[in-house]
Amino acid sequence: MDVYAKQKAAFAARLAEGRAAHAYILEGDDGDETRRFALYMAAALLCTGDKPPCGRCASCRKALAGGETLHPDIHVFEPEKNAGFSVETVRGIRKSVYLLPNEGDRKVYILCGAQKMSRSAQNALLKLFEEPPASASFVICCDRRDALLPTVLSRALLIPLGPLDDRTLRAYLADRHRDAPADRLDAAVRFAQGSIGRAESFLTPASQEASRAAADFCALLFAKGGAFALAAQALSLSAKRDGFDAFLAFVELYLLDVLHAHTGGPPPLLLAPSAAEEYRAASTRRGLCGALDALSESRARLASNANGRLTATLLCTRLSAL
Ligand SMILES: [Zn+2]
Repeated sequence: MDVYAKQKAAFAARLAEGRAAHAYILEGDDGDETRRFALYMAAALLCTGDKPPCGRCASCRKALAGGETLHPDIHVFEPEKNAGFSVETVRGIRKSVYLLPNEGDRKVYILCGAQKMSRSAQNALLKLFEEPPASASFVICCDRRDALLPTVLSRALLIPLGPLDDRTLRAYLADRHRDAPADRLDAAVRFAQGSIGRAESFLTPASQEASRAAADFCALLFAKGGAFALAAQALSLSAKRDGFDAFLAFVELYLLDVLHAHTGGPPPLLLAPSAAEEYRAASTRRGLCGALDALSESRARLASNANGRLTATLLCTRLSAL
């Protein structure tokens, strides 16, 4: 299922009209589909056939089947895990950009996750855009345009992929996750708010485990299960820091759903509407605000390396008193 077929057709039409740009900003989430779109653009820019991307020429076949691993003129850069996108990476690109392409008449540079690009890296990129070599095209993928400097934005053509409507996203997920139960896919759609990347991250096994544990924890919380029962659940998760934080993040989202049910806010993201209503009746706004405060303090404490077991115990004591 090609969810961005329309945007791809518009891009191909633009090239056919001779309106290619030297730099594009592809605004879409960090998921596989944005990357696939960027490779489609690279294929179109490198195509040697009649209607780019023809899908048949050697260049298209390499670009569409393997991207940078098969096509020597496609270069993909990702942000480093914690450091983001450094100015050194962009300087490296500037060194190589004036070298001739290997096969065709141009090279395509794809920069993924550009929302993590430092200001100095963006300024280095800007210099590249100011004197672009004719033989290079840039596809800058970022999840939101306002993470980029206005000067960078003004020198590139923006291609917004936009959020998907719920029906399209639901059909896409059903196609990709054929064994997933319907209620899990429904929850993924509510959680994702149109973002494929968010939906996919919700459906990972680790995320599902954290979400299920958080749902059980909330059921106990709203049934006034008491500090001991809550702590028994939370402590079993507190040994793994990342997993524990993901669990707390999901508890926060569940509680926000209930708070929104109190205030007439947006429809629930994760809870089924009937559960949101049931929990609303069993809680007060004041109690929920206190619980959300306690959760965010616990997450901040964990982020600064506090002891997981102690944090879990203190949190459950506070939650049970609300
Ligand atoms: Zn082609």
